[in-house]
Amino acid sequence: MEQKAKKNNTFAEVGKVLEEAKKILIFTHVQIDGDCLGSATALCRMLRNEGKEAWILMDEEVPGYLSFLETDYCLIHPKENHKELLEGADLCFAVDCSDPGRFETLRDLFLQGPKTLCVDHHSTNVGFADVNYVGRDCAAAAEVVYKLIRSMDKTIDPVMATAIYTGMVTDTGQFQYSATTAETHRIAADLMECGADFLKVSIEVYQSHTMARVLLKGRILSELELFADGKAAMAYVSQALLAELGATMDEVEGVVEELRGIKGVEYAVFLKEINEDTVRVSLRSKEFADVSAIGKQFGGGGHVRASGCTFKGTLGEARTQLKKAVEEQWKALSTC
Ligand code: 5GP
Ligand code: MN
Repeated sequence: MEQKAKKNNTFAEVGKVLEEAKKILIFTHVQIDGDCLGSATALCRMLRNEGKEAWILMDEEVPGYLSFLETDYCLIHPKENHKELLEGADLCFAVDCSDPGRFETLRDLFLQGPKTLCVDHHSTNVGFADVNYVGRDCAAAAEVVYKLIRSMDKTIDPVMATAIYTGMVTDTGQFQYSATTAETHRIAADLMECGADFLKVSIEVYQSHTMARVLLKGRILSELELFADGKAAMAYVSQALLAELGATMDEVEGVVEELRGIKGVEYAVFLKEINEDTVRVSLRSKEFADVSAIGKQFGGGGHVRASGCTFKGTLGEARTQLKKAVEEQWKALSTC
């Protein structure tokens, strides 16, 4: 049965929890992106400016295109390398995570926290922490973080402004996706006035691609498939292709947007082979399809126009099953 979403706590209640905590562990989701890391670094900096001990926990490396953010705050592979720093924390704080499954290996650590807090923007988030604020109308978690920091009356310095701006620009596809609002632009304008280095974000995130990445993208796109009457595009990356080109998985960022960019395509599906029985799936839609429903069918979720899931099975099985799920939804939509 589907769980009913809990009512949001207020920003005042979230602020109080943060004011009371002394040692805070911030959790992001796996497959770190600009929104979760931008949001987390801005919050971590705000908390440290208040004299608190705050860390961002992650069980993976920071992707190269985000290494200009304040990565000194990050404890990479915390369970193995930083046991002593995990002790005595009084708050576990999730940012941009729709459910505890998004922490993967750090799930239990989060849930064992003496108190848990979640600030997010995913519509599928039912409120899994003790205290929750889910800004479902916000284009990025960073937008919620901005509003929270403003409500707490804390200063947004240029480093924080750049981090929040990074979250907003990446999660809105450079202000192109349908979740972008007038408020999103007002916040971006305020961040520029706070000293956000927007040119640095553009260059680091969008204009610093490795040659391997460009070649990899070319190879992936050369094999894309159209189906569902040309309304859906699917592509995939295998471990064998990465090995052949000497590329890494974080270099495929943006491929799913290329698929959605094809004229007439409503659904974009991109599959990443993590290992022989795990495939990460990214789903996007353009104007009307609900891809969060497809993500949910495979244990994932997200937003109506952008969702994802982790598929347990081979790349071949993922291709077949995702294709079937998209075709079924398209058939239902096109016949009603
Ligand atoms: P992406 O394709 O960029 O990995 O994810 C697109 C959106 O779907 C993001 O907002 C992300 O948070 C959400 N998402 C991706 N994978 C999962 C998943 O496994 N579970 C849930 N609940 N959401 C996901
Ligand atoms: Mn986000």
